Amino acid sequence: MIHFTCDCCKRVIDLDEEVRFVVRMEVFAAADAGETDADDERDYLEEIEEMLSLAEDSDESLNDDVYQQVRFDLCSDCRQKFVRDPLGRTTPVHLGFSNN
Ligand SMILES: [Zn+2]
Repeated sequence: MIHFTCDCCKRVIDLDEEVRFVVRMEVFAAADAGETDADDERDYLEEIEEMLSLAEDSDESLNDDVYQQVRFDLCSDCRQKFVRDPLGRTTPVHLGFSNN
């Protein structure tokens, strides 16, 4: 039997009693800096995929700064926390602006 562990709280997820949630995140460098030609609709995702396949072919790991994909298993508790605060910002968000 396969056991899944929550990547956040390290608790074993009992699939008989609860649902396992999967978080998939893609982080990649937006290649839109300095682009001024609005008609130039280059498919950057395609380019990234191309780079990835090239990296696979040449057996060279792509720079993590350019593209990263991560996957987490979460229990329902941690999934709730994640959805509320995906970036893990611990400081509460203050509504309104300071009057400086
Ligand atoms: Zn958890």
